[in-house]
Amino acid sequence: MASSRIKNLFAMKCPRCYQGDLFNKPFKFKDPLSMPERCNHCDQKFEPAPGFYYGAMFISYALSSFLFLAIAGIGIIFLGMTVNQVFAIIITLGILLFFYTARISRVLWIYFEVKYDPKAQ
Ligand SMILES: [Zn+2]
Repeated sequence: MASSRIKNLFAMKCPRCYQGDLFNKPFKFKDPLSMPERCNHCDQKFEPAPGFYYGAMFISYALSSFLFLAIAGIGIIFLGMTVNQVFAIIITLGILLFFYTARISRVLWIYFEVKYDPKAQ
């Protein structure tokens, strides 16, 4: 089901079994993108190839650019804010969302590569 795939994507669950976590818990600021080598439920490798997540940086870049452009557009055109005000909001949001964007980009990337497998349950 597509809806449960999207739900598990945002929950950052394993793309193959939807059970294991894609990132190590608890969250550590020193290593925010720390992932287990394999899923603890279905043994799916979380780094299928060396440098696999290189492409995720482009997703992260695209997501951030889109979000920041949308905020700048709404702020300036609809809310009558100045460019400096808009920049202040974008920089604050950029810092707050940095780890989330980096993580969700990796999740999207591995979800493109690894399909759901009902036998992995
Ligand atoms: Zn799994």
